[in-house]
Amino acid sequence: MSRPSTTQLTIPRPADGASQTEVNSGRQLPLLLLGAGADPHSERGVSCPGELPPPSDRDLVRRAERARAALGDRAFVLGHHYQRDEVIRFADVTGDSFNLAREAAARPSAEFVIFCGVHFMAESADILTSPEQRVILPDLAAGCSMADMASYNQVEECWETLEDLGLAESVVPVTYMNSSADIKAFTGRHGGTVCTSSNAKRALRWALSKGSKVLFLPDQHLGRNTAVLELGLSLDDCVVWNPHKPGGGLDPDALRRATMILWRGHCSVHGRFTAANVAEVRQRVPGINVIVHPECVHDVALAADQIGSTEKIIQVIGQAPAGSSWAVGTELNLVQRLAEANPDKTVVFLDKTVCYCSTMNRIDLPHLVWAMESLAAGQTVNQITVDAQTAAQAKAALDQMLALP
Ligand code: SF4
Repeated sequence: MSRPSTTQLTIPRPADGASQTEVNSGRQLPLLLLGAGADPHSERGVSCPGELPPPSDRDLVRRAERARAALGDRAFVLGHHYQRDEVIRFADVTGDSFNLAREAAARPSAEFVIFCGVHFMAESADILTSPEQRVILPDLAAGCSMADMASYNQVEECWETLEDLGLAESVVPVTYMNSSADIKAFTGRHGGTVCTSSNAKRALRWALSKGSKVLFLPDQHLGRNTAVLELGLSLDDCVVWNPHKPGGGLDPDALRRATMILWRGHCSVHGRFTAANVAEVRQRVPGINVIVHPECVHDVALAADQIGSTEKIIQVIGQAPAGSSWAVGTELNLVQRLAEANPDKTVVFLDKTVCYCSTMNRIDLPHLVWAMESLAAGQTVNQITVDAQTAAQAKAALDQMLALP
């Protein structure tokens, strides 16, 4: 496929007194028409070269089947619950981020682990698999906005502040699985643990037995909901560290008093649900049960009937009595599959406004076909590797999670 042409856009030079950044932007920049082409510098590994038809094309499905068969046992395909149907049908196993990483680690004979999910998940798979195995992410633009909200430098700055205040020794870092390998490594280096939405309560309880404070990264909502609704802490025990403000935007005394230092991060999908959505669906469907993911804001968690990880939501609805009605506050691909898998129940999306995870949806059938055909042809594409030192430190935090009492 030939690369689409680009148009040159000249950004006018700013008036005197503008910042250096603004001045620098006066150069010629390539203007990419939406959906047409890719910037090879900022979007490496995003395009899938080749003559590939749209995902609904029957020929593409046949190509996917042929490529999958050609790879055979050399490849193991993982599909996160939030992936598109067109991709999920080719997954050897589906699950949440941690279960998928564990599944990858349990397949040492697979030369390629093709991860249909987002970047931090592929990193975890690379950390937990052997050095000989190669982890492939079919589209490198499949990131996670929440994971990106805590960069390594920002977290180091926060820690330095805690050290300057003489607090660091009493703080145990806990990072959600949805974080970069760098942040997991930071956590491992400082004696902390990784957690998932299923074991966050156990992780916090363990951390508070080791220290008097927790630095919870990067999802403030999972941290707050777990601390307040499951451990019985109060909202006053929690402060929010804003990485974009000096000192996190917090008074040192507030940091000294706090038990939970919550990082100011959130999920772009779960953060959209509101308590008004819960009230609206209750009015629209009398008697409906509302179940939401703990990445939702605290008001939504309070308004819901149940809170649960992705795996728990699947389990609760699967075991619910026929005829029951459920409004589900999580990613739409999963809610749609839950509705199809439970035709004897009413399963609806909590928010009437459609909201897929845009980065999860980057992995589509053309990208998966491209990745599988390339691997079958002997060309390794979009391999995710974590350097040995980062991997070792991150693994310490992951191992701590596996050892949680
Ligand atoms: S659903 Fe939220 S946490 Fe999960 S990948 Fe998308 S943005 Fe990240």
